[in-house]
Amino acid sequence: MWTLDKSKQAFTEAKQYMPGGVNSPVRSYRSVGSTPPFISAASGSRIYDIDNNEYIDYVLSWGPMILGHAHPEVVAALQEAIPRGTSYGAPTLLETEVAKKIQAFMPSMEMMRMVNSGTEATMSAIRVARGVTGRDGIVKFIGCYHGHSDSLLVKAGSGLATFGVPDSPGVPQGVAANTITIPYNDIERVRALFKEKGHDIAGVIVEPVAGNMGCVPPLPGFLECLREETRNAGALLIFDEVMCGFRASSGGAQKYYHIDPDLTCLGKIVGGGMPMAVFGGKAEYMSQVAPSGPIYQAGTLSGNPLAMTAGLATLSILQRNPTVFKQVEAATDMLCEGLLDAAHAAGVPVQVQHVGSMFTLFFSEVPVTNFEEANACNMEQFKQFFRYNLSHGIYYAPSQFESNFMSLSHRESDIKTTLQIAKEAFCAIAQQKNM
Ligand SMILES: *Cc1c(COP(=O)(O)O)cnc(C)c1O
Repeated sequence: MWTLDKSKQAFTEAKQYMPGGVNSPVRSYRSVGSTPPFISAASGSRIYDIDNNEYIDYVLSWGPMILGHAHPEVVAALQEAIPRGTSYGAPTLLETEVAKKIQAFMPSMEMMRMVNSGTEATMSAIRVARGVTGRDGIVKFIGCYHGHSDSLLVKAGSGLATFGVPDSPGVPQGVAANTITIPYNDIERVRALFKEKGHDIAGVIVEPVAGNMGCVPPLPGFLECLREETRNAGALLIFDEVMCGFRASSGGAQKYYHIDPDLTCLGKIVGGGMPMAVFGGKAEYMSQVAPSGPIYQAGTLSGNPLAMTAGLATLSILQRNPTVFKQVEAATDMLCEGLLDAAHAAGVPVQVQHVGSMFTLFFSEVPVTNFEEANACNMEQFKQFFRYNLSHGIYYAPSQFESNFMSLSHRESDIKTTLQIAKEAFCAIAQQKNM
């Protein structure tokens, strides 16, 4: 019998100490009207809560755990590293090793800097774009999330969309005014914007596969248009691959779509589940970062030896077994096809959108290509589907505006179980609809 009794108790207590009882908003399950399971452990494709419930996990810490939880090789590397100390604030051999691995996957990363979160990576990347161009304007796309720094917390999808907060209080008007937002995939608007303001634009930041309004791939020509317009205007193209790096393909979306960005942000997978992210790109721009150049950026815990160890172990496994990406993608395809079939059979209109090992099931009759269309989904049906799954041991992201993920440790039997539960959930939704 599935209950969340202990989690409910823990949530009540946590709320006294942390806003909403959590350290990141979407974890609170507010949009699905449920109590979040408090997690006690995770292993492979499974995650366990404090009420001893077991779930097949498609959140995977919001993306990082591509190898599955607690991969033995990553755990062993960490155990071996801990006795040597947890932080030095000084250079280590590990950082160069990690940089070499990243560059092997993503040749556009000619030079890079390690930071502690995706937020820090994107914040720093736009500082570089502004610093090297001497311009202030940043273009972002509605529904793309690039972390929570002031300049980028404008029309920012996922957690914000879920809570219906368009802009956060506390972001100065003057800062937000330099961020121009236009709809994702809207080539005409991009062209018009650059015609009008091209010489004021420092850079365009984009999720080349959007994941924070649910999984929304770029339409043909969209990324090419961004590359062309930024190049002509002397602006920088920043790919925020914090989510889609190592997910869209081994070399991220830039390899998958054959686009060469000026700067790239990585996070999530790159730290193997530890707090770590990276920004980097053309040496011409990155060499202007302090101390080799005037654009300031720093971090006490940046390049932390434990984060580097987990990242290095993860990237080494991925590099050694290049078929991992194909395997994880094949498992994603299998699950997505099955979900679509099950929804069709029950007569529930859905779109199952996926790229590489990212996927979202949208309760929509038409494909979702931008935030407005994501927002038009049937949120009641999403909520019902989510709750049925959670109570039957399937752990999806608790919002229609999120991507789900596959790992190397998900077995065919996991997928079959998942599809069986999905079938039941769709039937329950169809019954409700016909009542
Ligand atoms: C998760 C994410 C971020 C923010 O990363 P944090 O580590 O949560 O700060 C930025 N951009 C994208 C595309 C993300 O998915």
